[in-house]
Amino acid sequence: MEKIKFKKHRIKRTCTKYYENYHSYKPALRKDFDGYCAYCNLKEDWISPLPFEIDHFIPRAAFEAAKREDLDTDYRNLMFSCPLCNRLKGKHFSGEIPEHEISNPYFYNPVETDYNDIFYRDEKGRIHSDNELGKQMIKMLQLYRPTKQIAWFLDELKEVLDRIKERQSQEKDPKRAKKLKMAEINIEAALYRNHRSFVHKYMNEK
Ligand SMILES: [Zn+2]
Repeated sequence: MEKIKFKKHRIKRTCTKYYENYHSYKPALRKDFDGYCAYCNLKEDWISPLPFEIDHFIPRAAFEAAKREDLDTDYRNLMFSCPLCNRLKGKHFSGEIPEHEISNPYFYNPVETDYNDIFYRDEKGRIHSDNELGKQMIKMLQLYRPTKQIAWFLDELKEVLDRIKERQSQEKDPKRAKKLKMAEINIEAALYRNHRSFVHKYMNEK
């Protein structure tokens, strides 16, 4: 089986501001997570206008029980998440909350661990892992669902489309420009069809 990279972008944490309401971090999270779900790598654009959510990596139930309310607005504990991953991740946590680190025994921290080291895709975009916790995460977050494959395929199509548009805008030869235009129209139509079917499937899962 050909192993394909799980995702292409890298998550970073650049926000240094402090907000009293964790919702205020959303634009910063969107930017730092490149608009992708921290867990399944779905792009927010594909479910627009439905918004992404903010997941507390150490969940509320756990930090409230441990009187660690600081974790409600600690930027390091906030993850940009699609609604489905946020719901499935839920309250999962066990053990003590470590004093200085943001960790959860059920999930790799998507900022501190490069998910490309844990997950990969097959040629159809299906998500796999050879790692024990990785396999457990695939079950818990239902990363085996077909929508994860379609979302990946949409990203791939979009990339091809952008490349063709770019080439077409630079093509001087009218014959070749026409061919590129035809390809653009076909790919745009495929993207539209697949996107519609994706939205329909995602809404049923949610
Ligand atoms: Zn997700």
